[in-house]
Amino acid sequence: MISPIMPTYKRADLAFEQGEGAWLLASDGRRFLDFAAGIATCSLGHAHPHLVAAITEQAGRVMHVSNLFRIPQGEKLAERLVANTFADSVFFCNSGAEANEGMVKMARRAQMLAGHPERVEIICMDGAFHGRTLAMLAATGNPKYLEGYGEPVAGFVHVPFNDIEAVRAAITPRTAAIMLEPIQGESGIKAASPEFLRALRALCNETGVLLALDEVQTGVGRTGRLFAHQWAGITPDIMSTAKGLGGGFPIGAILATQTVARGMTPGTHGTTFGGNPLACAAANAVLDVLLAPGFLDQVCTRAALLDELLDALVADAPDVFTQRRGLGLLIGLRCAPPVGEVQEAALEAGLLCVTAGDNVLRLVPPLTLSEDDCREAVARLARAVTTIKNSTSTILEPAQ
Ligand SMILES: *Cc1c(COP(=O)(O)O)cnc(C)c1O
Repeated sequence: MISPIMPTYKRADLAFEQGEGAWLLASDGRRFLDFAAGIATCSLGHAHPHLVAAITEQAGRVMHVSNLFRIPQGEKLAERLVANTFADSVFFCNSGAEANEGMVKMARRAQMLAGHPERVEIICMDGAFHGRTLAMLAATGNPKYLEGYGEPVAGFVHVPFNDIEAVRAAITPRTAAIMLEPIQGESGIKAASPEFLRALRALCNETGVLLALDEVQTGVGRTGRLFAHQWAGITPDIMSTAKGLGGGFPIGAILATQTVARGMTPGTHGTTFGGNPLACAAANAVLDVLLAPGFLDQVCTRAALLDELLDALVADAPDVFTQRRGLGLLIGLRCAPPVGEVQEAALEAGLLCVTAGDNVLRLVPPLTLSEDDCREAVARLARAVTTIKNSTSTILEPAQ
């Protein structure tokens, strides 16, 4: 018999009762250090007092009114995002996939308004992940996710990642935008090189194609800058973000320049829930913390400590970890054994992590974690390594 909750996820047999910072207490009494953070979403950790107070206060006043009325919390959030990024205007929605859908719509509409209604195609990267709606499955392009869902939505083509000549060759008179993640998350924490991003910017300037960045996972402080593209010194024309923006409360956003956004007049796009007072109050509370002087520097300091400790662990256990990847607190450890086994051993050692493609263990802790949390996480990972080595040697012994 099928479970009442549809079995689309292979869930760990764990439920949590309470969280605090980077820690989660399970209903069986065990305490876990949370380096999954709701898949890079709980940016302030669990039960952050400022976020809890903002949500509680807003819920007690007015939660939802629809976009038929002004939403001061959303106006404030948009002003802050505009003040701190390349963007001139912001559209709020509820998830990463929804933000990406809107991003593609806006890119096409901007091309139409620029006199190029034929420019509808989006160039995407091999290994991309853009979400699970029908169009974003086509943008993702992974056959595993497309199976059984009919013809992929038209208008998305794929090129090798980090290959500027391949992108150049793929541009046609029908190209509207180039869409990519500054660091591919789901497919294994693979970074676009700064040179590639800068070359894409130049290519877009030259051809009138729009640069559309998916910062759903890399955004909102995850890499130690407010948005990851800032490390490369470039700006996109349009960008999506979501995961960490609400600190665990669902909210997504599309940020665009005036040139791209000017076509988005009343009636051209919409959402019932998007940007409601509660979601915007949560995101404003997250920004209060992230934009406080020194906070992003602290993220970089924590990341540097983790890098140092993890490099030592990788050097110590080359038969378990073959490489460290990533930037800031978006960290990947490529595994030698199947990553599922490493994730399981880490969980048994009291550390929650996520897997990613390319046999990579993904570490995406809350941005607020302490130095002690960093040390404790790597100590727990070292215990997991010992477990794996012991179990592997037992299995291998008879063959030796
Ligand atoms: C998670 C993710 C998405 C999808 O976000 P949802 O909120 O699950 O729809 C899209 N793009 C990237 C880069 C992501 O990491």
